[in-house]
Amino acid sequence: MDVSDSSPSLAHNPVYCLGCQERVPAERTVLQFRTGFYKGQIPIGSCDRCTPEHAILAQLWNSLKTGHFY
Ligand SMILES: [Zn+2]
Repeated sequence: MDVSDSSPSLAHNPVYCLGCQERVPAERTVLQFRTGFYKGQIPIGSCDRCTPEHAILAQLWNSLKTGHFY
């Protein structure tokens, strides 16, 4: 029996990218905000292409990596 597709894991949930303002697969995002949700259910984040292009997102990502917030 194949039980792979009916219940997608968290890793395959889409993330709403603030940069391109589209839903992207979670594996393409490098940044996810746990406090924000788009339309109440889609986590807000930033994909690997947008993060370097948006200073504020890159800054946020750096603070997450280093543990220093603002
Ligand atoms: Zn993006």
